[in-house]
Amino acid sequence: MAKILVTGGAGYIGSHTRYFLEKSGHTTVVLDSMERGDQRAVPAGMLRQVDLRDSAKVKQVLREEKADAVIHFAAYMAVGESNERPEAYFINNVGGSLSLFEAMLETGVKCLVFSSTAAAYGIPGKVPITEDQPYAPINPYGESKVMVEKILGWLDKFRELRSIRLRYFNACGAEPESGLGERHDPETHLIPLILRAVQTGKPVTLFGDDYPTPDGTCIRDYIHVSDLAEAHIVAVEYLLKGGGSDAFNVGTGGGRSVKEVLAAVERVTGKKAPHTIGPRREGDPPSLVADSSKLQKTLGWRPKRADLDGIVRDAWEFAQKG
Ligand code: UDP
Repeated sequence: MAKILVTGGAGYIGSHTRYFLEKSGHTTVVLDSMERGDQRAVPAGMLRQVDLRDSAKVKQVLREEKADAVIHFAAYMAVGESNERPEAYFINNVGGSLSLFEAMLETGVKCLVFSSTAAAYGIPGKVPITEDQPYAPINPYGESKVMVEKILGWLDKFRELRSIRLRYFNACGAEPESGLGERHDPETHLIPLILRAVQTGKPVTLFGDDYPTPDGTCIRDYIHVSDLAEAHIVAVEYLLKGGGSDAFNVGTGGGRSVKEVLAAVERVTGKKAPHTIGPRREGDPPSLVADSSKLQKTLGWRPKRADLDGIVRDAWEFAQKG
């Protein structure tokens, strides 16, 4: 069993991954600036509150904690905000990562799992998307993740820092037993926003119904956050056993439209989800669906919670706790 440092471990996916690492018998320490993290998502005594860009402090934490590997989530993640303030995304996501990697190299930590994104592919040439499709981000958020992926390529080649880059599709749901869930501020994601519309009666806006898809709304691959967390566990264990650097898509392989998600919310909650149709959101590709067979074949990972109603049920249970 290993000791894993989880950057951004107070965030949505980071906190679930920390929970599953502990369940698998690993020890964890969370490094988070708490600028956007949620105090409730980190058990007492587990948090080292550090901004990644403070390289000296990161080095100190790595020395003190003697971590065997790092799982790196800490980053800004809102596409719209990245269009408004690209510089903030490069400073935080790229600058923070560089500072972390420098500290890892200096302290001899050579295994890293990196939180990457389907946004790296931009508008894909072919769906389902395989990992060999080219980088073609269409927003600064996606670009910041691609830049870090490329830096990791060089650090593997010349500095023996091995990394797994996991390219997530649409993380959603919550792990019922953990008390954890999705709490972004402001919330921008579809499922929590539809659930909020059910709770408040204030309509959610669907961003466009004139896409070239069967019902006109965008198609995404909704992956349960617990399945996503488990992908990190197999990835870090693979690296710790000496596995080499690689990139993997993490999705279910099934595409669901915005209207299908809305219908699932109505089925699960038994209530109408008030909504209006608005204009398209800039930078939204019509369809993003993962081919994650490479991850399944290489690391033996499987999505176990792909049923959309099940995902919505877990998200609903969490949303009702307030
Ligand atoms: N979406 C929407 N209304 C909202 C938020 C999202 O119609 O208030 C749509 C969005 O256009 C996309 C899908 O829901 O097609 C998923 O969006 P989300 O922001 O959850 O994730 P993304 O695909 O941007 O990572």
